[in-house]
Amino acid sequence: MKSLKNVYMFAVTIVCLLIPVLAQAEVYVSEKLGFKLPSALYQIAAGTMHPIELSGGDTGIEYQIVMNSSGSTFADIRLAVCNNSQHLNYISGVTRACSNKDFTGTIQFSHKVKAGEKDILIIDNSSALITSKKVLVDIYANISLSTNQKQDIEVGLRKTLAGIHEFFDVDEFDLSLLPCGQSNAFSSTDDGDITMCSELLFDTEKKGLKNAFTGIFAHELGHTLLNLWGDPHYDNELAADNFAAAVLLISENFEYQDLDESEEDVSAEEVIGDMIKYFESIGNTSREAQAALLGGQHPLSIQRVNNFKKILLFPKKTAEKWTSEIYPHLTVVALESITQQPHLGANVELARTLLERQKACGSVPLDKCIINPQ
Ligand SMILES: [Zn+2]
Repeated sequence: MKSLKNVYMFAVTIVCLLIPVLAQAEVYVSEKLGFKLPSALYQIAAGTMHPIELSGGDTGIEYQIVMNSSGSTFADIRLAVCNNSQHLNYISGVTRACSNKDFTGTIQFSHKVKAGEKDILIIDNSSALITSKKVLVDIYANISLSTNQKQDIEVGLRKTLAGIHEFFDVDEFDLSLLPCGQSNAFSSTDDGDITMCSELLFDTEKKGLKNAFTGIFAHELGHTLLNLWGDPHYDNELAADNFAAAVLLISENFEYQDLDESEEDVSAEEVIGDMIKYFESIGNTSREAQAALLGGQHPLSIQRVNNFKKILLFPKKTAEKWTSEIYPHLTVVALESITQQPHLGANVELARTLLERQKACGSVPLDKCIINPQ
């Protein structure tokens, strides 16, 4: 049996591996998952070339590529797009059968690599005798999912939702995984629907911080639960971070049956730790401060980092602070789990009282249920 955090983890692990393993509100998975590769600046010496390998993966990948040579003294340069068998001949000068494009400044194009194949982009400065060239390369990739992969991810997302409803009493909301053009995630103000961006998934995975994806999902879930429970602070970012941390801590010992035993168990602290590293990795205080000065509502990454560091120092206090807000929205299964296996900072007394009320009230909502009316 695995803990609830594995419910959040589940979709993540499976999507990252892109292996068919990923379960009722609606779930939506885009047929293509996009992500951005890190920008790279190449300095290509006179008389040399630089190859960049593009893989087609298992199902074919469409790349959008932007190259910019304007940082060079002489910005004219050649780009060759070769298939795998052509490129060595191109580099050795035997043939120049690849498709060539000469450009000065910026070039932008799409290139699709078929499933199981790989193509090579060659930045070719071989005609220069003296001057090296600087080329900044930005690549965005769209992976096509096979029908099975898409269905398996949908199954994982449905399990994630089912796991949440097993422990939290909350209205239905949808869960989507799709490319957004940015590394982000959203909870809809209207209905609490959550969108996780494929760019964020790949970004956290690439940085070795996949638990951060779990944590960011918990943050969006924080917005959603607070919103659907009618809490006026649902759109406050730091409140959502604190709430997410509390949910992770409180659900630490919840056990969800419908998950694969092979899923690794991760502690709330590990998830929060990866969130800290992730926000440190994307933090740009001067840019964010600028945005804040222009009226942006988002806290600076450094503020979120400091807030999470405080939570890690005082996890018990964080959980304690939220028990009275969260417990009334827990199911019988969740409350029983707390009485049997209390989490750090648990209020077992409150869990018992709520359980008694739940049992006395049956299907009548707690706020409409009056016990011992005489
Ligand atoms: Zn948020």
